Amino acid sequence: MRENWQEHFAEAPDVLLGAGRQRTIVRVRDLAVGGDEFVTMAGPCSVETEHQLMATAYRVRNAGARVLRGGAFKPRSSPYSFQGLGLNGLKLLAAAREETGLAIVTEVMTEDDVPLVAEYADILQIGSRSMENYTLLEAAARSGRPILLKRGMMATIADLLRSAQVILSNGNPNVILCERGIRTFETAMRNTFDSAGIALLKQVTHLPVIADPSHAAGHRELVPALARIGIAAGADGLLVEVHPDPDHAWSDGEQSLDFDGFAAMMTALEPWIALRGTSLHEEKLEQRENAGTRLAEAVA
Ligand code: PEP
Ligand code: MN
Repeated sequence: MRENWQEHFAEAPDVLLGAGRQRTIVRVRDLAVGGDEFVTMAGPCSVETEHQLMATAYRVRNAGARVLRGGAFKPRSSPYSFQGLGLNGLKLLAAAREETGLAIVTEVMTEDDVPLVAEYADILQIGSRSMENYTLLEAAARSGRPILLKRGMMATIADLLRSAQVILSNGNPNVILCERGIRTFETAMRNTFDSAGIALLKQVTHLPVIADPSHAAGHRELVPALARIGIAAGADGLLVEVHPDPDHAWSDGEQSLDFDGFAAMMTALEPWIALRGTSLHEEKLEQRENAGTRLAEAVA
């Protein structure tokens, strides 16, 4: 890695890809995030009802998702909006895991909720609005669960990596970074998808990076294009909102795909995911060549 990136991200030394540092693979049940396999996490924005969650779990699994997402504790922009089912939502997620075998990712919003959410979830999601809540990050890290760390909507890449560093410094190496769009002067989309940020993160950190095209776009018709761009930029997986009846979703319906839309997107993404395999292969060859050069230099 170039010297100036080392300096730019000097406050996050342990997350940087350095000489001899392997890429982190985050193991979740039978999954490996950040390795050869591309991992799609999908499900509703919020857990609403048993039927809504179970139907979604089966349909996203059949379309190729490996992790079920769903918020039980919801950080809403308005205090008058639905705030989530809480413990009942966690129980429904655990039941869906039991039924389908999908791993579960769900958000934890407060330090006090960490033990409860960690009891039910396979991956703890730290939301955009919480990215700089360091006491929450510390508590989540110490739970020992893998962490999905979403980029704050006003956070720079350096801010994101600093938060990842807090988790690593608290003894938890299993961090998955997530680009979900940032605030810019553009208002047509909910956020501006920072695909360059994904490309840069893949160059400078050893942590897995996933793309959330749903919160970036804010409009469901843009989600497949942003997913494709995220994969081309080097993402290791996706986080996608899917709902049985998006127009009547209790949160984020505008950006949620229905079952057929999700299945169609997953099929259309297959060639792009296959191309990702090619670039991973090239990266491995390059590493081998570099190792060969280092060895040649060492013996010379
Ligand atoms: C979510 O994943 O539903 C969510 C609230 O995302 P973000 O924190 O990125 O807004
Ligand atoms: Mn949402």
